[in-house]
Amino acid sequence: MIVMKFGGTSVGDAERVLAVVEVVRSKLEARPIVVVSALAGVTDLLVEAVAAAARGDREGLDPVLAALERKHRWAVAGAIEDARRRHDLSLSLDALFEELRQLLRAVRVLGEGTPRAADALLAYGELLSSRILAAALEGRGVRARLVDPRDVVLTDGRHGAAEPDLAALAETARRTLLPAVEAGEVPVMGGFVGAGPDRRTTTLGRGGSDTTAAAVGAAIGAEEIQIWTDVDGLMTADPKIVPEARTLPRVSFAEAAELAFYGAKVLHPASVLPAVERRIPVRILNTLRPASAGTLVLDEAAGEEARLASVASRTGVCIVRVASRRLRADPAFLPRTFAALERSGLAADLAVCSEAGATVVVSRAADRGRLAAELGGEVEGTVSEGRGVVSVVGSVLLRDPAVRGRVIEALARIEPEALALSGAGPSVAAVVPEQRLQEAVRSLHREFIEGQGRAAA
Ligand code: ASP
Ligand code: MG
Repeated sequence: MIVMKFGGTSVGDAERVLAVVEVVRSKLEARPIVVVSALAGVTDLLVEAVAAAARGDREGLDPVLAALERKHRWAVAGAIEDARRRHDLSLSLDALFEELRQLLRAVRVLGEGTPRAADALLAYGELLSSRILAAALEGRGVRARLVDPRDVVLTDGRHGAAEPDLAALAETARRTLLPAVEAGEVPVMGGFVGAGPDRRTTTLGRGGSDTTAAAVGAAIGAEEIQIWTDVDGLMTADPKIVPEARTLPRVSFAEAAELAFYGAKVLHPASVLPAVERRIPVRILNTLRPASAGTLVLDEAAGEEARLASVASRTGVCIVRVASRRLRADPAFLPRTFAALERSGLAADLAVCSEAGATVVVSRAADRGRLAAELGGEVEGTVSEGRGVVSVVGSVLLRDPAVRGRVIEALARIEPEALALSGAGPSVAAVVPEQRLQEAVRSLHREFIEGQGRAAA
């Protein structure tokens, strides 16, 4: 069995839904379980709708609801050829939209959107998309079985960020998914959605359909978890910066997690975990080019290679430099500093520290006044905005001191404001002013990625 997860852009409109149907049809002998996200943009619209309803804003709400309906009706009109089937599907969507309107009305009348109410509402994106996809599959001769994710993905009940209970999932999957597969059907379920211990709807956090796919795959011991998206896979660099960037045929889990951290929005890092633990390969594939091999994410040992994987980068970060005004070393300096950063709403993405000073990279603009107040008089903090992080990623960095040395040397040459080798992750990162970032990425890619290609050729 395999799990095939299709992201929102893969089911963006009727044409894309039909492309997904063809992809699923081509994999039937692998006995797929299909997990699908909400249609592209739908979860954002639902978030908007919840906010408008919670403000009691009827004028704000109506156009959002209209846009939601339009998107789904268009998809149905284009993806379901048979009039009878289209009619039946439209009736079941009518019922869902009616529920959605009632729930939103309740929130609007109360003027308050609790996390529990928000979850109940956000789930509609996936409840709708899975119905449409199941009907479209049926329409093209695939025996699809629509499965409600709330019957399968039991969670800890934390609204907005629920965690699937894998032991419970193994049990519910055996009951709900496996019999369908055994009977030659293709289970189709929305991602992102689950049910808490009290059976109330919970969501797994934005991008949570990957988590669903990985959790289901782990629970049933799938041969492979396929994440179908709209790019060929993970890349050696951001192709907008480096035109020579290539798709990586395989990466280790640690490398994939590192790349996700640097904004490769292809794979949600949390999704990697249950699959890693069970050594189930995750493959990233492109719905637009189903024949390309994509990127295979493997467990550490299997993914171990001598090459460097990628030059990742991220813009729009801030550097916060903090220094103790005390003359003597103060063991409480670091814990106090990080507590102050946290109270200021600043989570450190990267930190280089000593007992008397710290350089911390944060991805949000820092409120200088607030930070100064939280740090207190004995600690001085300065903030520099408009910074970027460039990171050379490869599990080989953890194993090979010679490669590590060359990478550190190259990063030192770009005159970084901070340079970080933690030894914990498969990367070395440097912080530079944003205007120097692109050139740095290009030169590092030339040296370490394209250079490798030439050496290997
Ligand atoms: N539809 C949800 C979101 O947009 C979940 C997902 O797409 O993975 O966050
Ligand atoms: Mg989505």
